Amino acid sequence: MPVNLLDFDSKQLADFVASVGEKPFRARQLMRWVHHFGESDFERMTDLARSLRAKLAHEALVALPSLLADSTAADGTRKWLLDVGAGNGIETVFIPEANRGTLCVSSQVGCALECAFCSTGRQGFNRNLGVGEIIGQLWWANRALGRDARSDPATGDRIITNIVMMGMGEPLANFDNVVTALRIMLDDNAYGLSRRRVTVSTSGIVPNIDRLREECPVALAVSLHAPNDALRDRLVPINRKWPLAQLLAACKRYVEAAPHDGGTPEAGSLGEKWQRKSSPRDFVTFEYVMLAGVNDQPAHARELLRITDEAPCKFNLIPFNPFPQSGFERSGPDAVRRFQQILLDAGVVATVRRTRGDDIEGACGQLAGKVNDRTRRRERRQTEVRA
Ligand code: SF4
Repeated sequence: MPVNLLDFDSKQLADFVASVGEKPFRARQLMRWVHHFGESDFERMTDLARSLRAKLAHEALVALPSLLADSTAADGTRKWLLDVGAGNGIETVFIPEANRGTLCVSSQVGCALECAFCSTGRQGFNRNLGVGEIIGQLWWANRALGRDARSDPATGDRIITNIVMMGMGEPLANFDNVVTALRIMLDDNAYGLSRRRVTVSTSGIVPNIDRLREECPVALAVSLHAPNDALRDRLVPINRKWPLAQLLAACKRYVEAAPHDGGTPEAGSLGEKWQRKSSPRDFVTFEYVMLAGVNDQPAHARELLRITDEAPCKFNLIPFNPFPQSGFERSGPDAVRRFQQILLDAGVVATVRRTRGDDIEGACGQLAGKVNDRTRRRERRQTEVRA
């Protein structure tokens, strides 16, 4: 049975190359062909010996999810629906901005966690994505945005400069596959992204925040959404298992471990450049969806400041994207401004996320894909609504 090369990080690729009797440098060449150049046809990998290409044709393939739909919103946000078999589809979104291009990547088919305000959560859950299905989203997007995997042919600049694991699913519930995919994203022979430009967003799986810190530290975002356990239990049910005190302590540990490269190198030196590339960010981003009359009052902002004063952090306030039967409404602009000002006045960085891609349902919390739900959540919900 041929192996899928998209499933392998550099170490696994080296093991595979050794298993077919080839030298280690062939693994680096293959990594560059598959990821950096976005090539899936071994015959086009022209600097590989003919004999190796023949072996690869028998022993390996580059198997990608196939494209079901490709849509572009008026603001340039682009969304792909990719087929991952058995009636399941996952969504990937590219958000172009003046100084960067961010790809929002999915980690699961649906999500098992059922956050109250989340459209993906409503779809139910089918399974974890494999490494090739996670990294395949980046591979696809690079190809769709411009054939060469890393740069804009006109300017030489990268098209995808940032990755956020904020699509469908809870990344830290699919830990091993997500971490392998992260390693490929960071690999200089593959996509060569810095740890600061790759963000994992979690709803708060505390033990795996600690594992991520140890195994593959990248930028960390936490879906906070409430300043106390009573409200968070309702909005983000995983909070009942790992309440705020545990979550915030894990965030503090994560950030404390971030500047681990030792010392402060001279500005502009090679050491500084290396440190900037190899360190994750030294703060946590708290995501906070603004729900009218639920979590958007000044008292909530002040409570947030109290509970987060020990974790270096910034806040990203997200206007809620309504969807049918969500039961929530978006906070008004005045409420959002007032909330943001309380945080800013306390010296905390707080930004308001611009809503992008609304017209193709590519905005935060709107990704729904096609989920062959194994949890029967949708049926349960419909019964509840009828009752
Ligand atoms: S917010 Fe994230 S963790 Fe919560 S249900 Fe949605 S996808 Fe899952």
